[in-house]
Amino acid sequence: MSIPFASELALIGGEWRSATGKGTLPVEDPSTGATVGAIARCLDADVDAAVAAARAAFEGAWGRLAAFERGRLLSALGRAVLAHADVLAALETMDVGKPRSQARADVTALARYLEFYGGAADKLHGTTIPFLEGYTVYTLREPHGVTGHIIPWNYPMQIIGRSVGAALAAGNSVVVKPAEEASLTTLAFARLAAEAGFPPGTINVVPGLGEEAGAALAAHPGINHVSFTGSVEVGTLVQSAAAGHVAPVTLELGGKSPQLVFDDADLEAALPVLARAGLQNAGQTCSASSRLLLQRGIYARVVEALAERYRALRAGPAARDLDLGPLISAAQRRRVEAMLEAGIKGGAQVLARGEIVADAPAGGHYVAPLLLAPPGPGHVLAQEEIFGPVQVVLPFDSEDEAIAIANGTRFGLVAGAWTRDAGRQHRLASRLRAGQVFLNDYGAAGGVELPFGGVGWSGHGREKGMEALYSFTAVKTVAARHR
Ligand code: NAD
Repeated sequence: MSIPFASELALIGGEWRSATGKGTLPVEDPSTGATVGAIARCLDADVDAAVAAARAAFEGAWGRLAAFERGRLLSALGRAVLAHADVLAALETMDVGKPRSQARADVTALARYLEFYGGAADKLHGTTIPFLEGYTVYTLREPHGVTGHIIPWNYPMQIIGRSVGAALAAGNSVVVKPAEEASLTTLAFARLAAEAGFPPGTINVVPGLGEEAGAALAAHPGINHVSFTGSVEVGTLVQSAAAGHVAPVTLELGGKSPQLVFDDADLEAALPVLARAGLQNAGQTCSASSRLLLQRGIYARVVEALAERYRALRAGPAARDLDLGPLISAAQRRRVEAMLEAGIKGGAQVLARGEIVADAPAGGHYVAPLLLAPPGPGHVLAQEEIFGPVQVVLPFDSEDEAIAIANGTRFGLVAGAWTRDAGRQHRLASRLRAGQVFLNDYGAAGGVELPFGGVGWSGHGREKGMEALYSFTAVKTVAARHR
């Protein structure tokens, strides 16, 4: 497809403008490796202008809207997203290399976030607090002001929905830095927002490189909260930059999320989920379940069923809507392949491999899905996030051992457990170190209502659900003494 708007412009204060440096960056289709367009390369001056525009909107037309009016705009934007579902999905398929049905699911999720936060905008309020005689005490829940949003390439629409949607519902104005690898749906979203009637300057978009526009945004003293989703490495840089002006930060980082399958599990229910939970978006998912912990009694049976599934998987051009598309870039593909090569040399056994379709374009960044058995839970492939179509299986004997392995990485984003034993379910829910625990399920189809975020190296702060609204507001306590 050709991009149906001028993608090489930034949105600042309601105007579509060239970046000050006049530079652009190429847009690559990862299915073919072809350049299909360009985006703006914003620099410090563009970020300055975007932050100033956002501040003006916060102190002006946007800041004056009643909460229910903000909610109505978000709800209208959600409907506009659904009305443009085909073009948004096609853009994401081309830009991210995401199979069409997965891109379509991201559109639905974006609309659902906007619907959820549209409905929540006028239900966010403070409390009254019983206190000493002669006082009336209450709290106000206030927006931070201007919030910065640094978005990764793997789920642009979902992450816009959960972070920008919540920030706007809470009354903030926003400056968004999409990933240089995938900015198109963010730009399309901003166009729909302008048409839906958001006042100019409420939503600003500054595409560009992470180390330029992203770094400028994180360090900008006019930004009152930074929401970052991406790698641990960059997340720590962003947190340090925001510390320079004492801005709070939400970090949504990586994971090495386990599913624990016990001997008493309903395997018929578990088997279709086990692999799917690790392979969505070719494994380039922060919450991908990349470790499968299998109790010894069912280990051989589950490995055989998984291997059969893997051998049937096909990777190919995103537009063909196969099981997997390509990885996002040649650099990601090289990174993943190098990790796999080192891991296999280091003793990981290949249990099964899927296929790359024969006619996949040579310039695309395809990696065949791989099921591996590392020699132990301390092996590099059982510890480090691969961010590719790879799962590892690990056997365990006891519940305690399963928990020790599950909790034995530096990450803690999501965990799933399959068991019919209700007592064990609750013990696991309590003892697994993760921001979300699923029992006899994994992911719950996205669940926009469900708070999400990590512990440890998976990050801090919560997005999604009502919790996100608390992250994007600060509580002010008012204590009135009556004399
Ligand atoms: P990344 O950290 O390289 O980039 C993320 C964003 O940060 C991009 O917009 C990029 O331009 C920007 N950036 C890069 N350098 C920057 C800098 N110095 N200052 C400010 N911004 C900068 O991550 P990625 O490669 O896009 O995504 C892959 C990683 O993200 C994986 O590790 C994955 O687990 C993680 N991720 C986490 C979640 C989550 O919700 N926990 C979601 C998606 C991705």
